[in-house]
Amino acid sequence: MNVHESEKLAGILDARGYLETNERQEADILVINTCCIRENAENRVLGNLGYIKKLKENKRGLIVAVCGCMTQQKDAAQRIKARCPFVDIIFGTHNFFMFGEYLDAAEKGKKVLDILETEGDTIEGMRVKRAHGVNAWVNIMYGCDNYCAYCVVPLVRGRERSRKPEAILEEVEKLLDSGYKEITLLGQNVNSYCSEDKFGRKVDFARLLERAASFNQKYRLRFTTSHPKDFTDDVIQVIAHNPNIPEFIHLPAQSGSDRILALMNRKYTSKQYLSRIDTIRKYMPDVGLSSDIMVGFPTETESDFLDTLRLIQEVRYHNLYTFIFSPRKETAAYAMEGQIERAIADERFARLIEVQTKIGLELTEGLIGKSFEVLCDTYLEKTGVSRGKTRAGRIISFKTHADLTGQFLDVEVTHNKNTNLFGQVKK
Ligand code: SAH
Ligand code: SF4
Repeated sequence: MNVHESEKLAGILDARGYLETNERQEADILVINTCCIRENAENRVLGNLGYIKKLKENKRGLIVAVCGCMTQQKDAAQRIKARCPFVDIIFGTHNFFMFGEYLDAAEKGKKVLDILETEGDTIEGMRVKRAHGVNAWVNIMYGCDNYCAYCVVPLVRGRERSRKPEAILEEVEKLLDSGYKEITLLGQNVNSYCSEDKFGRKVDFARLLERAASFNQKYRLRFTTSHPKDFTDDVIQVIAHNPNIPEFIHLPAQSGSDRILALMNRKYTSKQYLSRIDTIRKYMPDVGLSSDIMVGFPTETESDFLDTLRLIQEVRYHNLYTFIFSPRKETAAYAMEGQIERAIADERFARLIEVQTKIGLELTEGLIGKSFEVLCDTYLEKTGVSRGKTRAGRIISFKTHADLTGQFLDVEVTHNKNTNLFGQVKK
């Protein structure tokens, strides 16, 4: 979500004639698009600002902007304003489309520091400077109404709001016409997408997915993120029956303990979660599955943690995104009794990774000798190594004599190094 929002900010800069640079020292404008999902993301912003302060001392006229989730929080925005007087522009998530106007002021030497909208909208028609490559991100909705007890997203992204289907489909079609081969639909909980078309007919996520996957050409339509409580049979059927939707699902479980899931306000039990996985596998036996798992949520006991290990052993995910609970102000879990000591959380985290690494390795080794349709997304000219993803989301590296980025290739897996796969293109 943040990467795509940065593409929109880059679109505003692009329209004003600015060019992109990878060298901070060269920049006339530095924008930090922040995340505040965990404390270490916030700490990184403060570390970066320390470095930028020095740059600014040596470069008069450098414009520094800080925006995004972190500065959508009033106290964080005020802290940056007070501690970092060299910052010129501070704004939150709800008004990033105004960045051009803030720049106008900053270019005239004015500071723009007290912007804080509390309600977000769905802004259409923004110019986007997308990364070159095969994948393009498309927002289908903004915000989140789920209020998971640990999560700051509903507080910094506002209420759930869905874009109109026509606007989304037009964007997808344009991207396909301009050569993108993979489209990823974005939302905090794509399954609760809900809108109406121009005839007033309700369009839910299953219907949107169906329509977005029906353009008459070969491409991959992905989506993220799904919430297990809303992942309906209808959506599973659409994925299973549409060749343009690859069999890959990121379905964050968070925990395997029903007691912790209830405290987290996730609104499903581990049994319900596993039954979703069963249905998914019934229709798509080769599905690629990934998940977010958190350890150290307040009151988590050894036995709760063992439930989580059991869940990941039962599902056998291809890939896991693993987190240690980080208390976020104003969320329900922040003030909960029973906060877990860091050393205990660290130890559980290490065991979680150990178990998943073993599963990942076994799954990887099981792929050797098999062939997959790979969408090539990277070519390193120096070494002649290309990379791409299978439909189930597995990354394979292989040699090619030319840049085949954007092509669908038939690749046989020849060997692995740890969980990394290597293969060769079949003739
Ligand atoms: N909307 C998505 C993504 C939310 S953020 C979803 O519901 O899955 C991505 C992940 O970050 C979450 O799934 C969760 O595992 C993790 N996360 C969110 N808040 C956190 C916190 N306070 N501490 C640790 N991990 C957190
Ligand atoms: Fe956060 Fe839960 Fe919403 Fe995901 S569904 S963004 S974890 S509140």
